[in-house]
Amino acid sequence: MTRVLSVASECFPLVKTGGLADVVGALPAALATHDVDMHTLVPGYPAVMHAIGHDAPIRATLTDIFGGTARIRSGQVDGHPLLVLEAPHLYDRPGNPYHNTNGSDWGDNASRFAALSWVAALIGTHGLDGWSPQVLHLHDWQTGFAPVYLRQMGGASRVGTLFTIHNIAFQGVVGGQELFWLRLRGEDFTMDGFEYYGHISSLKAGLVFSDRISTVSPTYAQELMRPEFGRGMQGVLHQRRDVFTGILNGIDTDAWQPPYTDPADKASHKAALRKEVGLPEADGPLCVVISRFSEQKGMDLLLQALPTLLRHGGQIAILGNGDRALEAAFRRAARHSSVSVHIGYDEPRARRYLAGADVILVPSRFEPCGLTQLYGLRFGTLPLVALTGGLADTIVHANAAGLRAGISTGFQFNPIDSEALCGMLSHMCDQFSRPAIWRRMQLNAMSQSVSWQASSAEYAAIYSEIAAAK
Ligand code: ADP
Repeated sequence: MTRVLSVASECFPLVKTGGLADVVGALPAALATHDVDMHTLVPGYPAVMHAIGHDAPIRATLTDIFGGTARIRSGQVDGHPLLVLEAPHLYDRPGNPYHNTNGSDWGDNASRFAALSWVAALIGTHGLDGWSPQVLHLHDWQTGFAPVYLRQMGGASRVGTLFTIHNIAFQGVVGGQELFWLRLRGEDFTMDGFEYYGHISSLKAGLVFSDRISTVSPTYAQELMRPEFGRGMQGVLHQRRDVFTGILNGIDTDAWQPPYTDPADKASHKAALRKEVGLPEADGPLCVVISRFSEQKGMDLLLQALPTLLRHGGQIAILGNGDRALEAAFRRAARHSSVSVHIGYDEPRARRYLAGADVILVPSRFEPCGLTQLYGLRFGTLPLVALTGGLADTIVHANAAGLRAGISTGFQFNPIDSEALCGMLSHMCDQFSRPAIWRRMQLNAMSQSVSWQASSAEYAAIYSEIAAAK
């Protein structure tokens, strides 16, 4: 049995802004069958405190946690042990984990998450009520200082660390003058430490000082060691390539269960979806998008490619929110009778879109793993994706060889530009007009393994290697 403390700024279903939360929420159950005893540590945002109850058992009281007193309370998430860092001076605020209700980052984000990392290192070093982790599994920049603090506290000789990159685009960079306020030591403020062009990078701290590093797909791991994708961290990752690996995310296949077993039964869901979003009956493929609106997600490419899809008789229902300019542009696009746009974040709606659609589009410029294409596979809603990151690792492209062998599960376009996207939309529409091929692809897609089964075994193996090395 390996004892692991998983530390993150989000955890589904308590608090979620993206795929990170899904992964952190899924790991404890996925790992339980692999002899891993996992506790999860998250900040006590209002939603989390509400979920565990303000009278949840107190496991420790800590004075002087970055400007105030904090408590560690215990709770449960889906029946698994949860530790909550209740620090009202840092987390008892409206808005989402990272910014206020106007969408601006909290000015003290560096110390808010340094506090989480500090407490993770404290638990690593001293244990909690007789439970002491052998491994800290740290997720993204918010936890990057934990291995540094663990060394400072003297815990690093007994407790190992795995740092997982869910998205390199977020790096937690703050000015060098924050060094002492963040309780970091000057000797690590170097190029070989967490210094990044005169600033402090908590992501780099995690990459440099953790025992092992992972990211969420094998292709993204390779991409991150190249300048086009590494966002300045390619050198560090290349240096640490012997301890750096890519492990694909899975999905909770119980939670993402299609309301049919035969894809032919999608017909009634398609009719219902058309009705819900106000699209007329049509012969072409009904596509959906379920996404944050950001440059990463390639929504601008999609806007440019829409006329091509519509010319081929396709329809599209878009569900998403984010960038205000993109929201406005999609609203304008929705004037077309074959385009529906719903601005918002709505999970039940996302499920109805998946059940009713023929195709899910994921035109991301980069995609560490991506979850929506996995939901698409599960629902027989064929993914049309950019050839990058986890999108490259999870889809078998419908090229001539794939179709002839009857193994294709979706469509991949490359290079990642609007021209290639248009080309692939045309190819997809061609295949859609061949029902036998389409059905074969749907059945292939639905029979892919998208659960956590294989990946959780890989995490369990890394944890036990880390623990054994201490
Ligand atoms: P990222 O974490 O970069 O946003 P992922 O594909 O890894 O991308 O995860 C996105 C998660 O958020 C998925 O679970 C997806 O279904 C969900 N999601 C994104 N936008 C919406 C939305 N507008 N409504 C409902 N769910 C959404």
